[in-house]
Amino acid sequence: LTVTDRISLDRGRPFFAVEFFPPKDDQGEADLWRAIRRLEPLDPAYVSVTYGAGGSSRDRTVRTVGRIATDTTLVSMAHLTAVSHSVTELRHVIGSLAANGIRNIMALRGDPPGKDPLDEWEPHPEGLMYADELVELCKQSGPFCVGVAAFPYGHPRSADLESDTEKLVGKFRAGAEFAVTQLFLEPDGFLRLRDRVAALGFDQPIIPGIMPLTSEKTFHKGPELSGSPLPEALVKRLEPYTGDQKTFRAAGMEVTGELCERLLAEGVPGIHFYSLNRSTATTELVDRLGLLAPSPAPTA
Ligand code: FAD
Repeated sequence: LTVTDRISLDRGRPFFAVEFFPPKDDQGEADLWRAIRRLEPLDPAYVSVTYGAGGSSRDRTVRTVGRIATDTTLVSMAHLTAVSHSVTELRHVIGSLAANGIRNIMALRGDPPGKDPLDEWEPHPEGLMYADELVELCKQSGPFCVGVAAFPYGHPRSADLESDTEKLVGKFRAGAEFAVTQLFLEPDGFLRLRDRVAALGFDQPIIPGIMPLTSEKTFHKGPELSGSPLPEALVKRLEPYTGDQKTFRAAGMEVTGELCERLLAEGVPGIHFYSLNRSTATTELVDRLGLLAPSPAPTA
């Protein structure tokens, strides 16, 4: 199934999806597969695996997503970036995804390897400049369903929100079927982005990407890496729990639950959880938000 097939099968019922990263070693592989096996019965709409900066991690993305496609009942999606790849190499990776039964690709430009995301982007001399070109390449290469990245507060290199939104709809024009957002901690930026896209006449689903606030590290690192603001009111709200992992987690998960509830009340199609290869926080939120698939009707 493609992601869009699967979303339409849910007939408007909000779904959840889960993002993983490729494991670095045997322990990481075991942790990832434990998380996958725990989440599989909850029936996520899709699971995705990120694409790293270098050779071996990239091979692990293809291997991991291929194994998800063959060994589980899950709809799988591979992320792919244009970083350090010629167009010929990109065609080769896309071919190996197809050979592994992958029908869904999250097409991304990526960041300059080993540098600050704000550094000047230099494309591979025989590569691609922007994600919209990768969307086109995927679409020309086979019957792929393609997702792209969206930024509620604008990509750090975008001049302003209007031009950032133009670039996002440029990716829809190039054939992308849906977008997933960078993580964010309060709903307003997301809702304004959705309004700007709708005002330009596009109705592709924009799926909020949510990182469960399970620790002080995720609270501070997430916004730092993503460029979304750390809201002052949230800092104040979570301040009393600093230094105590257990109570911080409980308060952080409450904040995350409230954010997801607001987004669902605003009619988002579903929620994409950044899982960090764990299952517990996602499971708790899916349960709280009532995103579990209804049990099949008993057969006579
Ligand atoms: P683009 O859409 O190409 O945008 C990059 C910049 O160029 C923006 O400022 C945009 O406004 C501008 N721009 C875009 N198109 C044009 C154009 N035609 N003309 C002029 N300017 C243009 N990174 C990884 O390395 N691996 C991953 O697996 C990964 N997964 C991600 C998943 C999600 C959901 C998100 C939100 C991000 C992910 N990233 C990943 C990070 C992403 O690669 C970076 O944020 C990168 O800097 C931007 O990628 P993009 O696809 O949005 O690029």
